This record gives sequence, structure tokens and C-alpha cells, in this order.
Amino acid sequence: MTARVRALETILTQKGLVDPAAIDAIVDTYENKVGPRNGAHVVAKAWSEPAFADWLRKDATAAIASLGYTGRQGEHMQVVFNTAETHNLVVCTLCSCYPWSVLGLPPVWYKSPPYRSRAVIDPRGVLAEFGLTLPQDRQIRVWDSTAELRYLVVPERPDGTEGWPEERLMRLVTRDSMIGTGLALAAEAT
Ligand code: FE
Repeated sequence: MTARVRALETILTQKGLVDPAAIDAIVDTYENKVGPRNGAHVVAKAWSEPAFADWLRKDATAAIASLGYTGRQGEHMQVVFNTAETHNLVVCTLCSCYPWSVLGLPPVWYKSPPYRSRAVIDPRGVLAEFGLTLPQDRQIRVWDSTAELRYLVVPERPDGTEGWPEERLMRLVTRDSMIGTGLALAAEAT
């Protein structure tokens, strides 16, 4: 695959169809600038600032853009909040729609047919395979992404983190906790 990609890039460059500097810029963006850390920033700020959490509920796209996280696959965002009653889980049953601007590129399993089908048929079973067993009375709500709308889960804030600065809170926010296949890490984890 690597050799094929390199050959394709060489031909496209020789024909003048792509600019290698543009490709470098795109790769650099997705390797270094876009990733789950952006989403973790959004979550930590939502935990810290009720006004920001409200803004996320009302207009997530604008609230997230205010932190500078915009661009492809993040044009229309909805943020869903986990509570003591409801756990949220995100999937794209049709393909692999994912909020790149806040989570980076999707993990392989997110794009796999078993995850995409079973997340809606048996969400509790899927979560158990991720090592996440929720109380039986916890409702699981599954959100199906589309090309128009991407979801970000705000996990519950771990106990014992009162007064923590955003930077420290961010370290508890894993990628999976923002997809819903995990929870935020416990305070002792850092
Ligand atoms: Fe999709």
C-alpha cells in the first residue's frame, strides 16, 4: 500500500496535478494539529465552564469553532452529554463519518462492519467488549453520524477533580470516552 501511494503521488506530481507541499501540509495537519486532544480541550472546558457547556448544547459547531477547531468533517457538530441516567454512544452505520476536527482520524474499529452494525443492535454487548460494563438501569443512547452531522460525547466528569485546571482535566479525557466506548479516566490515573 505504501509503495502504491508513493507511485500515485509521484505520477500526480509529475503531471502537475498535485503540489507536494500541499500534501505535506495536509499530512502535517492530521498528524500534528488534529487529534483527540482537541476534543479533550472541548470536554475539559465544558466541565469547567457551565456557560460553555450551555453553548455546546445550543450550538456545538460555533462553540467548538471558538476554540479554533474547524474544518473538514467538523462542519456540523452536536455534543451529547453523559449523565447518571444516560450513556451516549456514537457510530456511523452507513460508513465512517467522524468528527475529524475534534477527534482526528477514526480508529480502524470505528470503520469496521461489526462495530457499525452491532453498536445499534447490541450496544451493551459492544461496550462490554470494550471493557465497559454499565449499570443495568443506565440507558444507552446510540447516535448515528451522517455526512451532515457529527457527534462528540462529553463523558461524566470524574469524582475528585473539583478545582482542577483545564490542562489537568484534559488528561482524563480519552478518545474512546468521546465516542462513548469508554469513560473518562479516574482522577487517580494522572
Ligand atoms: Fe459515514
